[in-house]
Amino acid sequence: MVTAASPYQGYVYAYPHKTAYRPLDPRPPLRRVWEGEPMDSLSLYLHIPFCEMRCGFCNLFTRTGAPDELVAAYLDALERQAGAVRDALDAALDGASGSAPGVSGVSGVPGTPGASGGAPGGPVFAVAAVGGGTPTYLSAAELTRLFDLTERTMGVDLRTVPLSVETSPATATADRLAVLAERGTTRISIGVQSFVDAEARAAVRPQRRAEVEAALGRIREAGFETLNLDLIYGIDGQDARSWRHSLDAALAWKPEEIYLYPLYVRPLTGLGRRARDWDDHRLGLYRRGRDHLLAAGYEQVSMRMFRLPDPARTAAPAHTTGYCCQSDGMVGLGCGARSYTSALHYSHEYAVGTRQVRAIIDDYVRLAPGDFTAANVGFRLGDDERRRRHLIQSLLQAEGLDPAAYRERFGTEATADFGAEFDRLAARGWLETDAGWPRLTAEGLAHSDAIGPALFSGAVRELMAGYEAR
Ligand code: SF4
Repeated sequence: MVTAASPYQGYVYAYPHKTAYRPLDPRPPLRRVWEGEPMDSLSLYLHIPFCEMRCGFCNLFTRTGAPDELVAAYLDALERQAGAVRDALDAALDGASGSAPGVSGVSGVPGTPGASGGAPGGPVFAVAAVGGGTPTYLSAAELTRLFDLTERTMGVDLRTVPLSVETSPATATADRLAVLAERGTTRISIGVQSFVDAEARAAVRPQRRAEVEAALGRIREAGFETLNLDLIYGIDGQDARSWRHSLDAALAWKPEEIYLYPLYVRPLTGLGRRARDWDDHRLGLYRRGRDHLLAAGYEQVSMRMFRLPDPARTAAPAHTTGYCCQSDGMVGLGCGARSYTSALHYSHEYAVGTRQVRAIIDDYVRLAPGDFTAANVGFRLGDDERRRRHLIQSLLQAEGLDPAAYRERFGTEATADFGAEFDRLAARGWLETDAGWPRLTAEGLAHSDAIGPALFSGAVRELMAGYEAR
């Protein structure tokens, strides 16, 4: 493990990766899937699979140029799915408490929002996010409908929980931002990628800096608690100077969070001809970016994430202070959304190719409520995979793996379960263990995209290798 030369093997934003999911046969009913799962602190994720254009580096589930009718049909389907999922969660809760199933939630019947983001007696949502795609591809009226249907059907008052929404420079219009602010959005995330027009074009995200600056101005004016800004390094033609220029342009807005992403689609010219050169180039830009943000007062949360320190943050549990889509107990709604229980990760079908994405969305909008009552594709997690998931998610954060939390959850020591892995990482100088607390060193964090994939189980690796890209 961890012998591959390239530090850029893959971005591990979730474990296991969706390409390890397979059709579930028979399809398990959601009420069974959720039975016995804690439902007092769930995450809610809404997926909007539409964008104005396809960025050259994107491998997400999204389509461009969706006509109004398709967007309307998508929201109709999302409402049907939300109703079916809410019924299943209620039935699971009733089943677990021994009363008659299916009596508390009826598709389409409004739930009453509770003070902590859930209906009395129903599932409680502690955090919510709208992602994509580009959620603000929806018009202001469509966003209002999205929030209305979510609150009504899922019984959650989104104004009472941390709510994160993604946007783009062209779609962050004043009327949409007003809806987001009014509905309680606490964190807005915008993909800028580069403040240099030529680099934006090279990354096939043709937007002008003036357009980006205007969007950031509107976002600040709307007054969200947290602004997150994404930048990319490794773009064709980008050098240390232009990278610094983008970082400074971003810092001028004092964003509460900045994500620095390495580009994964190799440029066709220049550095791209020799993979090793490009790796070195990206590593060099990463180090410069990291050091520049640290010098500007940001703290590093993971290889990609940097944030301004917030004294209030440590006082509250992590899941109540921000968006964390990786915890167990996530209910995903929408065509490309994943849902997580402790024993099963599941979703609808998955594809990246334009034709397949379109076909999957076209199928999704035709589904009846009954089609949403069971899981389609997924991955079952046994005890080993749960431990591994915990390991990967903790270790790839700067904070590292809390040994007491691991012991409490699994009844064993992380150092005993993953001693060989820790030794190998330590031998590379990528891991230090301070008072029994394993965490990546600065160089380890820089190599997160090699370390994460190297920690996958053999079974997950095999499934991913056998996935036929569509
Ligand atoms: S805006 Fe985001 S989701 Fe849409 S194509 Fe670009 S990177 Fe992909």
